[in-house]
Amino acid sequence: MNLLIMGLPGAGKGTQAAKIVEQFKVAHISTGDMFRAAIANQTELGLLAKSYMDGGNLVPDEVTNGIVKERLGQEDIKATGFLLDGYPRTIEQAHALDAALAELGISLDGVINIEIDPAKLQERLSGRIIHKATGETFHKVFNPPAEGYNEEDYYQREDDKPESVARRLEVNISQSQPIIEHYRSKGLVHDIEGDQDIEEVYAEIEKVLSNLK
Ligand code: ADP
Ligand code: AMP
Repeated sequence: MNLLIMGLPGAGKGTQAAKIVEQFKVAHISTGDMFRAAIANQTELGLLAKSYMDGGNLVPDEVTNGIVKERLGQEDIKATGFLLDGYPRTIEQAHALDAALAELGISLDGVINIEIDPAKLQERLSGRIIHKATGETFHKVFNPPAEGYNEEDYYQREDDKPESVARRLEVNISQSQPIIEHYRSKGLVHDIEGDQDIEEVYAEIEKVLSNLK
């Protein structure tokens, strides 16, 4: 299956992507994770991406389109399928993705669109914590680690600070609508209610994906 997962920052894309990947064995391609890995490895791409990410802005399309196209062209993708998370984020990226997939002879099977009231996102993002050892995402209140939360083993994302969050939401709200409409016109979009428990959101997604398979 070849899938996109869309939703505003904090909607729950990464959380649901981890579950989808585990059950349906597709490759998880998260542009945010790719940029964070590049930052951690102090590569040229990382340095460039950081200058945009810290301010809550989007990394330029040429750069982002390039890394996604390269990843989609790798050997494993045709066998496993993929779940793209956090891409496309501009209509230009959506057009670049269409072109890249056409070139590779791959078609999209569905777009999971997690809907949520933007007013709920500040508390989702300000409480987001990531386990340093595994990269797994939790929330201090809504999804605390089973063994409890220990400051040393978890970190908070630089761009989850209030200054960046406001800018990220502004950027993403204005850009996301045309992208959803682009895929809706192709009949690919499945809207999912994001303001319910993590397991309830996943139950809806699982139903959709089981019908697509
Ligand atoms: P995204 O990848 O869309 O930015 P995440 O999956 O990282 O979002 O989720 C953002 C934060 O909200 C995380 O701390 C996560 O644990 C929490 N979260 C995710 N889904 C839900 C949910 N359905 N209800 C409450 N909190 C959630
Ligand atoms: P995410 O982990 O998806 O919340 O992304 C974190 C940050 O990485 C975003 O705020 C952007 O700065 C950058 N980023 C991730 N995906 C994209 C994309 N498709 N286009 C541009 N920038 C992106």
